[in-house]
Amino acid sequence: MRYLLGLIFVLTLAAGGVFLVAGRMSGPSIEIAKPEKFVGVSTPLEIAVAAPLLAGLRVVLQQNGKETPLFSLSDPKGANVRQDGADRLRVSQEIGRKTVPDLQSGPARLVVTASRKVVYGIRTVESTATRDVQVRLERPRVSVISTFHFINHGGSEMVVYRVSPADVQSGVLVGDVEYPGYPASGATVEGVRISDPAVRVAFFALLHDQDRNTPIRAFARDEAGNTGRADLDFRVFPKPFKRSRIQLEDRFLDRVVRAILEGTTDVRPEGDALAKFLVINGELRRKNAEKIASFAKQTAPEMLWRGIVFHPFTNTAVESAFADHRTYVYKGKEVDQQTHLGFDLASFAGTPIVSANRGKVLFADELGIYGNCVIVDHGMGVQSLYAHLSSIDVQPGQMVDKTQQLGRSGMTGLAGGDHLHFTFLVNGRMVNPVEWWDAHWIEDRILRKLRTTS
Ligand SMILES: [Zn+2]
Repeated sequence: MRYLLGLIFVLTLAAGGVFLVAGRMSGPSIEIAKPEKFVGVSTPLEIAVAAPLLAGLRVVLQQNGKETPLFSLSDPKGANVRQDGADRLRVSQEIGRKTVPDLQSGPARLVVTASRKVVYGIRTVESTATRDVQVRLERPRVSVISTFHFINHGGSEMVVYRVSPADVQSGVLVGDVEYPGYPASGATVEGVRISDPAVRVAFFALLHDQDRNTPIRAFARDEAGNTGRADLDFRVFPKPFKRSRIQLEDRFLDRVVRAILEGTTDVRPEGDALAKFLVINGELRRKNAEKIASFAKQTAPEMLWRGIVFHPFTNTAVESAFADHRTYVYKGKEVDQQTHLGFDLASFAGTPIVSANRGKVLFADELGIYGNCVIVDHGMGVQSLYAHLSSIDVQPGQMVDKTQQLGRSGMTGLAGGDHLHFTFLVNGRMVNPVEWWDAHWIEDRILRKLRTTS
């Protein structure tokens, strides 16, 4: 009998000990992925909870002494709940006026509480995570100041607009392609200067492969994700793009394939010269375009260029215009199609190649199909590119003046003979350079708008 009582005593003590230890076991791990800092008119909430035997999960928003339930495991409402592996749950939903009807601008706190069962379900352990956020419910405003926007298909345009508050991100949306705006105080062509801090300038393009009816609008977006939009009056002019056929000769294939593959690790094609050429002309062309586009984010926020027009390379013969649609033919068979997004200008071999305008060299190196290539930044997302050079005379980071020599023409990269491949970039997208050589175009699309705003 005494033994039995003793045994019961020991067992009770052990159970109590387990119960206490279990209480100190950790609760589920909680990760609040979104929002990071701001909640706007409609902001995604994303939470991940990891624990075996998750028993409960509750998300609330606390603001001005009130608590609004956003989610609970027993009543998920409109939330998207996903199992991510055996012991991980992801919850996503929107926070906004719909889920929190009396949401107000100002500080708020997200509180996430999760619990799990331990010791065969005898006890529950809980953990809590919080995130302090700022609620912003006022949409930023954007209004277009400039008038008469005329866009050549494949070409560029500029818009002047006003945003408020002045510290929001803004620009132009052409379909789903975004072009950032820059403070208009950085626009100083012809001494024209706009000092109003709310005024912005954005260069944008209607790309050769975008539909002519693509919507074009100015936008402003704050840190909470609130977006304001404004229409701009514009007209699109169609530009017929040429079609051409390029005959591929074995001698050409052997030369360019070997030279390009020696200088790149971006592609490693197998097979004969034609098979390798097709990888270079497709996959490497695409990778090179991505690399070129990546320099957009290094652009200066102000205009670096001087004078009215860009240097037009008038002493050269145009061999190929912008956005030529090229069909490649090998031994009588069509083997590939690509669009040529630049101008090919031929003069004599080893012609000095000069910068089209003042700017900063961002790239001066070998680049796949472009061979020896130089990219010059003229500011506000406007850049120029010079390819197939035989030699390069400049270095990245260097400022160059208008008509300063960048190098000499050549036939490096994917070039059939000595020529300059020249193109213009607007926020990393290849656009028709011809417009930038035209004083009338610069006057109407850029100077007129800056003058009437200032
Ligand atoms: Zn070319």
